[in-house]
Amino acid sequence: MQRQRRSDTAQEIAVRRLLTASGLRYRVNERLSADLRWRADIVFRRAKVAVFLDGCFWHSCPRHRTAAKANAEWWSTKLAANRERDRRTTRELRRANWTVLRFWEHTDPQRVLRRVLMALATSSQPGK
Ligand SMILES: [Zn+2]
Repeated sequence: MQRQRRSDTAQEIAVRRLLTASGLRYRVNERLSADLRWRADIVFRRAKVAVFLDGCFWHSCPRHRTAAKANAEWWSTKLAANRERDRRTTRELRRANWTVLRFWEHTDPQRVLRRVLMALATSSQPGK
């Protein structure tokens, strides 16, 4: 639910390249369904697999989060709200029978690819 689409990260570009090279078709930054307002970074609609590539700063990755010095309290509230929203999104999607995969921005794209392939393989609705 980011108001503005930030520019693609190197990881996103690398992951999409690997998926395409594996012959997979997917959608990018796609709303998951009319009644779900959430978007995922990479969507396999028929298989109902939603992939989120979470930015280390905005989603407070334990390895790379940094404490902002200016407006510390505002930031900590803001980032906590982001984390809560991530959890809520995942919960709602799982309830709607989506397979939700979340990765940190620092995760190796090859590892992301392997996890996506596994999720697609175990999905009951293979295809797109
Ligand atoms: Zn990180």
